[in-house]
Amino acid sequence: MKLILFKQVDYRDNDLIVNGINENNQRISFLIKGAKKPNSKSAAYCILGNEYNYICDQEDIIKMHKFKGGELLKSHHHILDSLLKIACFNCLLELTDKLCKEDEIITDGLYKNLAKALDLLEKDAHELLVLALFMAYACEQLGIKPAVDKCVECDSDKIVALSVEKGGFICQNHHESNDQLYKNIELLKQFRYINKASFDNYEQLCYLDVSLLVINCFNNFLNIHGAINLNSYEFLTTIVKSAIN
Ligand SMILES: [Zn+2]
Repeated sequence: MKLILFKQVDYRDNDLIVNGINENNQRISFLIKGAKKPNSKSAAYCILGNEYNYICDQEDIIKMHKFKGGELLKSHHHILDSLLKIACFNCLLELTDKLCKEDEIITDGLYKNLAKALDLLEKDAHELLVLALFMAYACEQLGIKPAVDKCVECDSDKIVALSVEKGGFICQNHHESNDQLYKNIELLKQFRYINKASFDNYEQLCYLDVSLLVINCFNNFLNIHGAINLNSYEFLTTIVKSAIN
C-alpha cells in the first residue's frame, strides 16, 4: 500500500504508530514495533513526509495494520535544509491530519495535493506559495472557500478589504475596522489569485512574493469557518518574522 506519512505517535516503550494517507485518500495507521529501539531497522520507515510502499495483507478491511516491511518510494530530506521549509512542512502535515480526522470523511485529492506540495517544498524556494495553495485547497474541501469576486454584502466590485467573518471581499460601504488587507490592492490580488488557483497553476504564480499576511487570512478562514487551529502556525510566524531562514 502506497502511503505518505503525516503523523507519528509514541506507543508503549519502543513502538510507534504512524498515520499516513493512501492513494484512495484514506487515513491509514500502522503499528511499527521496536521503531524507537536504538539501531532499529524499522525506524527508517517512519519518517514523516516520506512516501512508502508498505506490505499490507487486508487493505480494505482494517484501519490499523501491523508493519511487516516495505520500501521507500520518495524522501523529502531537503526540506530539512531550511527553517522556513520545516515550518511550512509542519503546517502541511498538521493540516493533512486535521482534514482526515474523521475516518468517514474522504477528502477528494488529498493524497495528490499533499504529494505535490511536498515535492515543491523539497525542490523549490516558494514555500509560502506552496502552503497558501494547500490552505486554499483545504478551504475548498471544507466548503468554506472565500468569496473573492464581489463584495459579499452588496455585489459591488469596488473591493477594499477582506472580511474573514463575513466570508470574503468587502467594499468601502460595508468595510469594518477588523477587516484584513485594507486598501492593500497587491495582497488582495494575491489572495484572489491563490483562491482561484490550484497546484496546476503553480508555475504561473511563482512570480508572486506571497506575504505572511495572506497566509494569515487563510489561517483565519480555517480557524473561524473550519474549526481548524494549527498548532504549528506560530512557529511559521516566528520564522518568517525573524527572517533567519
Ligand atoms: Zn458592499
